[in-house]
Amino acid sequence: MNNELDWKHLPFGYYPTDFNVRCTYKDGKWGEIEVTPSDKIELHMAATCLHYGQECFEGLKAFRGVDGKIRIFRMHDNAERMRQSAEGIEMQPVPEEIFNEMCIKAVKLNERFVPPYGSGASLYIRPLEIGVSPSIGVKSATEYVFMVMVTPVGPYFKTGFGCTDICIMRQYDRVAPRGTGRYKIGGNYAASLTATEHAHALGYSAVLFLDPKEKKYLDECGPANFFAIIDGKYVTPKSDSILPSITNRALQTLAQEMGIEVVARQITVDELEKATEAGACGTAAVISPVGTIRDLDNERDYVISADRKPGPVCTALYEKLNAIRLGEEPDTHNWNTIVE
Ligand SMILES: *Cc1c(COP(=O)(O)O)cnc(C)c1O
Repeated sequence: MNNELDWKHLPFGYYPTDFNVRCTYKDGKWGEIEVTPSDKIELHMAATCLHYGQECFEGLKAFRGVDGKIRIFRMHDNAERMRQSAEGIEMQPVPEEIFNEMCIKAVKLNERFVPPYGSGASLYIRPLEIGVSPSIGVKSATEYVFMVMVTPVGPYFKTGFGCTDICIMRQYDRVAPRGTGRYKIGGNYAASLTATEHAHALGYSAVLFLDPKEKKYLDECGPANFFAIIDGKYVTPKSDSILPSITNRALQTLAQEMGIEVVARQITVDELEKATEAGACGTAAVISPVGTIRDLDNERDYVISADRKPGPVCTALYEKLNAIRLGEEPDTHNWNTIVE
């Protein structure tokens, strides 16, 4: 165990750990898994990842549970999504066995950085794949490197589970209607930075993007999925330009088990009037509850939580999912991989 770290106050940043794990695809096959203490990579300056954005990644977390065991949450789903992302931008997909083995290895090798139970902190796992063979002509690489790095991160809510305000601004799109929105790739993030910085400058935590074709329906909330409680139902946008959040899927399952109806459909902006709760969801926060949604173009406020406290459904879902990840409640869906 690492005693020097102030687990509760760690930022969502990069804190160096002991090792990372790598594997190269070359001559039509994946090679041996390599372990290295270096956090540098040597790259050809004409690598396709640098010029043409051949990069995809994942984000998942490992936790120290109530029983002292380390659990990785929904690793198999991240492996599957990474395959889809790679195929979506013409990259060589990483076989699930390699993905799983490397995630587990990276966690084990850095076990002293897995935060203690009760700290609210976790070990963030960041698998990423890049195209590395040189090309100036626009084409996909023939060689790829898949890497898994880990870094400890503090609790998302430093001052307790609470609401933030978000905004709608129609001058930006995160992705194109039939573009790459459903893949977890660096390019989508680059394309959303200006909008996000703009929203932050105006005092909002995120942009609630609208569907890029008609600007009528809710899409993603910054780098997270969005859901609202409308007429007592868990309603979440259905759209081809949304990245399928594994957290959102888990919340839908848990909501159903709590007797809440789940509906994935197009949601128009003015339906926000009827929302009694809303949240952004993803691995980083699980749920980031929403206070007010400001439509900047119409100067209209949708007040979701007048007292700025998370509502009962958000709170119950948040606590339930956390309890499963920490081994406090039975893992009836086999979401956890125990690292032994
Ligand atoms: C990663 C990500 C999410 C959240 O997905 P989780 O699997 O729940 O972490 C949502 N939207 C975007 C754009 C993302 O990149």
